[in-house]
Amino acid sequence: MKKEFVVIGLGRFGGSIVRELVRLGADVMALDSSQERVDEYSKIATQSVIADTTDEEVMKSLGIRNFEHVIVAIGENIQASILTTLILKELGVPLITVKAQNDYHEKVLRKIGADHVVHPERDMGIRIANNMISNNVLDYLELSDEHSIMEIRANDLLAGYSLIDLDIRAKYGINIVGIKRGEQIIISPSADDKILLNDILLVIGAVVDINRFVKKVM
Ligand code: ADP
Repeated sequence: MKKEFVVIGLGRFGGSIVRELVRLGADVMALDSSQERVDEYSKIATQSVIADTTDEEVMKSLGIRNFEHVIVAIGENIQASILTTLILKELGVPLITVKAQNDYHEKVLRKIGADHVVHPERDMGIRIANNMISNNVLDYLELSDEHSIMEIRANDLLAGYSLIDLDIRAKYGINIVGIKRGEQIIISPSADDKILLNDILLVIGAVVDINRFVKKVM
């Protein structure tokens, strides 16, 4: 069955979500209060509708409650973002993802029941800073304020050693949960799997511990 989404707010962030969901084969209803934005997405989204999403009657008439996942990508207007989220929650939408502008905004969103809160600018800043610090940290996924998964390219200090040789779980309290080797992905590598030069290690753990490991071996 095709997945059905609603994206509210067609700025740069919401707009790129619409394009990508459509590219991935999903049905997307795109909503914005600006006619210009709605026109821009009329040929891209499955449906593109002008609507003020802070108006509960409008939301009811659009049948929003029948969609499985709604993304609120209203940027600057924090009040509209919060009110929209509240209405979605009251309508019983099963999954609500909201873009937060700041920590206070996030706190309120969580309190009223947003399922996922994202901070695209902050997260991208963190990711780019990590890439700048080390050429060997390729990517970064924040799991919580303290924990993350990082992709680290194995250099010649790591190549040739097995996971048991490195003993990083005991030394750093972090885990290598996968190894990317060209097209191949080794899921849950075993203790005697040997690391090869340019393998990409998927490391999970506390950010401070992963950074200790990266500093030591890079
Ligand atoms: P970005 O930073 O991702 O570019 P913007 O703040 O430019 O985000 O875009 C947010 C979009 O949300 C705008 O297109 C705006 O018209 C829309 N928007 C703001 N308030 C409402 C609302 N009450 N109902 C529907 N859309 C809204």
